[in-house]
Amino acid sequence: LFITFEGGDGAGKTTQSELLGAWLESRGHEVVRTREPGGTRLGVEVRRLLLHGGEEIGDVDPRAEALLYAADRAQHVAKVVRPALERGAVVVQDRYIDSSLAYQGAGRVLDLADVRRISEWAVDGLKPSLTVLLDLDPATAAARLESRGGTADRLEGEVEAFHTAVREAFLELAESDPNRFLVLDAAQRPEDLNAEIITRVAPLLTA
Ligand code: C5P
Ligand code: MG
Repeated sequence: LFITFEGGDGAGKTTQSELLGAWLESRGHEVVRTREPGGTRLGVEVRRLLLHGGEEIGDVDPRAEALLYAADRAQHVAKVVRPALERGAVVVQDRYIDSSLAYQGAGRVLDLADVRRISEWAVDGLKPSLTVLLDLDPATAAARLESRGGTADRLEGEVEAFHTAVREAFLELAESDPNRFLVLDAAQRPEDLNAEIITRVAPLLTA
């Protein structure tokens, strides 16, 4: 079973994937919690370049950026996700193809169909059974990130309009694939979100 979490920075993806992972383990499932970018050794390097490359790598062309995310993803699916699924583990993952569609496609200058095509090629078509979209307005997300003492990596200082575009892109993706997506209001208390997620996941475990 392959479950992904999506949403903007500060929406609570990490918290919710931890809570879901703990619940699954308490029910006796092997759980692999992982993330993109950065879920493999190669991916850690790609993530560092993408998010903190700065002067070291200069200005990155949008196509080059999209291909780096795709390279991270290809390695991750081949070396971590597929092997885990094949031995029957539940994979609980922060970010997947929808993040590329929302950030690289809608947030930037690339054609969405192109980003989708390279992403799907990178993973040889692997789809999640369930994608939990944690939807949160950018102002609340920014306040959370600030109170946490950090900022959203590369997004620091970027305008709210960008986060709003990303949020809308995620919501559109969810609307276009309602069977795969569970959209939740991420302003709710973490334990309430967790309960809603468990309600949706439980039947998938017996299916
Ligand atoms: O959630 P995480 O901290 O791993 O995401 C880091 C950043 O990477 C996000 O804020 C987003 O800007 C960027 N990202 C992206 N495209 C992806 C995945 C992440 O632009 N496919
Ligand atoms: Mg996170």
